[in-house]
Amino acid sequence: MPDTPKSYPLLQPGALLHKRGQSLDKGTAIAPPITTASMFHLPGQPDGSDFYGRATNPTWGETEALLSALEGAPALLFPSGMAAISAAFFATLRAGMRLLLPSDGYYATRRLAETFLAPLGVTIEERATANFGAGGFAGFDVVFVETPSNPGLDMIDLAAVAAEVRAAGGITIADNTTLTPLGQRPLDLGVDIVVSSDTKCMGGHSDLLAGHVASRDPALIAAMENWRMLSGSIPGAHTAWLLHRGLETLEVRFDRMCSTAGTIAARLADHPALTRLRYPGLPQDPAHNLAKAQCAQFGFLIGLTLSDEETAEAFINTCPLIRPATSFGGIHTSAERRARWGDAVDPGFVRLSIGVEPVEELWDAVSAGL
Ligand SMILES: *Cc1c(COP(=O)(O)O)cnc(C)c1O
Repeated sequence: MPDTPKSYPLLQPGALLHKRGQSLDKGTAIAPPITTASMFHLPGQPDGSDFYGRATNPTWGETEALLSALEGAPALLFPSGMAAISAAFFATLRAGMRLLLPSDGYYATRRLAETFLAPLGVTIEERATANFGAGGFAGFDVVFVETPSNPGLDMIDLAAVAAEVRAAGGITIADNTTLTPLGQRPLDLGVDIVVSSDTKCMGGHSDLLAGHVASRDPALIAAMENWRMLSGSIPGAHTAWLLHRGLETLEVRFDRMCSTAGTIAARLADHPALTRLRYPGLPQDPAHNLAKAQCAQFGFLIGLTLSDEETAEAFINTCPLIRPATSFGGIHTSAERRARWGDAVDPGFVRLSIGVEPVEELWDAVSAGL
């Protein structure tokens, strides 16, 4: 693998909004059009222009331009986060290879690997995020990390892990769903491939499923693009357009969500109803030093543990400004007791995803609910 270039310009979030507008002809729509075509006008020899809807699509292109600006790297759009993760796996793993996964990350990533990669001859090992480096990375072809982990909010030192994996001859894939490229830039820290579920904060309105991959290694991007074209794992044009629209407000949403989460987490720190609190932005959090060194924002997810299942369910289901729902990262504050899906967490553990409500209004509702 080539060394990761460090010279990519850092994202200026305001530039995202003007990306399309800066190159428009007079009379062109400021918002991108939705192109649903399967066929494109193609007389004579193919020359790299759009030719068939499974290979390229102008609306994907508009959205990928924003994703690419966010990542500082070529990016490819997929119809879900799992489709993006599948592309990264199937483009990099072959029979006889070894894959390392976090034991406490997003459950579907582990299920995908166990169900479809193991029978094809990929050896899979798992480690807890909080102890991920223990044992080193020798012999692993692909190391997959998720930081902060979902739902536990433990963190991995991305630069240290990526450097060790590279020295051992492997590649690192980072799931950056929870912090987005505005909160953390894994490619700048030496990670080879970033994957993301854009269903969450990137889309932001709980009305679409999408995902993307990004990499500064042209061979890896080409392999994942080829996977998308041949497997047919392609996003719809409407979805791409909706995600484009969501990305235009990502900076303002993410900023509000993170700042509100910081305020609320600080106020929850000595709340008598909680037996445990996780938020990487709090100085007492086990992940705080790492988060401070690695992240531009501490995120919008708060992990809080209440005394038992009944108390946690009552909190989630009765607070008027909390939507009881799985998933996270939307503009509406939502919460879920993860043990209901069998995650290895306390029965009273609640993953609270802070939305864009006015902070004092939300705090009044949350504190009344507790
Ligand atoms: C939701 C999620 C995924 C899967 O994304 P989908 O869009 O639901 O396919 C992957 N990783 C993390 C961390 C997630 O939260």
